[in-house]
Amino acid sequence: MSVLNRYWNKWFPEPNTGCYIWFGHTTGTRSNRPSVFWGGKKRYVARVVCEEVYGSPFDGAEAAHKTVCSAGDACVNPDHLYWATRSQNEMDKPAETRRKNGVASMAKTLAIQANRRQEIASRIK
Ligand SMILES: [Zn+2]
Repeated sequence: MSVLNRYWNKWFPEPNTGCYIWFGHTTGTRSNRPSVFWGGKKRYVARVVCEEVYGSPFDGAEAAHKTVCSAGDACVNPDHLYWATRSQNEMDKPAETRRKNGVASMAKTLAIQANRRQEIASRIK
């Protein structure tokens, strides 16, 4: 049985991005990577999914997220994952950074808009 079928209640398809957002157990100190007990071992869901869909990993393969993926580590959509070499995965890091900056710049924009609204509101009084 596929890991996504077995844990169907631990993820949901995000309609706008196509990401399958995992809200089950995660592991990791820096990033929270979806993980499960699978075949008697603690495994990263992304690796299990890649094995099921793309076959056994080549030497040193890392389960990486494609640049189309907007959720990164939280996403377990097979279409958003692939077996990458270490350097391919590193090359995807700028995309990861872009995603984080995107969130940061959105927060900044909202803060500027809030300030502007206050400014306008204070002039109306
Ligand atoms: Zn995704």
